[in-house]
Amino acid sequence: MSNKEKNLTLVLKALTFAAEKHRHQRQDDAAASPYINHPIALVNLLIEVGVTDSKVISAALLHDTLEDTDTTYAELKIHFGKKISDIVWEVTDDKSLTDAERRRIQIAHAKTASKHAKLVKLADKTCNLRDIIKTPPVGWDIKRQRDYFDWAQEVIDALRGVHKKLEKAFDKAYALRP
Ligand code: ZN
Repeated sequence: MSNKEKNLTLVLKALTFAAEKHRHQRQDDAAASPYINHPIALVNLLIEVGVTDSKVISAALLHDTLEDTDTTYAELKIHFGKKISDIVWEVTDDKSLTDAERRRIQIAHAKTASKHAKLVKLADKTCNLRDIIKTPPVGWDIKRQRDYFDWAQEVIDALRGVHKKLEKAFDKAYALRP
């Protein structure tokens, strides 16, 4: 197998794994879209701005599996190796903490995150803002939407200087703040 083929196989393996793990989940928009559409949206955005590293793309596909499914770090490591698992780990929130603590910690972590984790975080926040603009989550009033936008900006401001085009995409989404 050529390197290109190996990379593509890795990405498809990550997509299959994530689709399986999120199979019972829906997004919280009115259409209740399949959850996997969210990680796929991250990949679309990353490729659009020129990020094609298969490890980053795979980590983007897997980025919510630790936080939102029964997947463990050990399981990820067996299937995808340490590098990808570490990126996913870096962008995972500790769900045992309160919302306020999680928000504070995300901002602190953004500063010291690896470059690859920063790319995934940027794509995640940009896609979340785009989703809120397009189809706000059910039950989110304007205040909650604005609050999310402002917190997302705080997180992104803490990690800037990693990828111009991706940061621009985030700023463009933020400019549409409700
Ligand atoms: Zn996400």
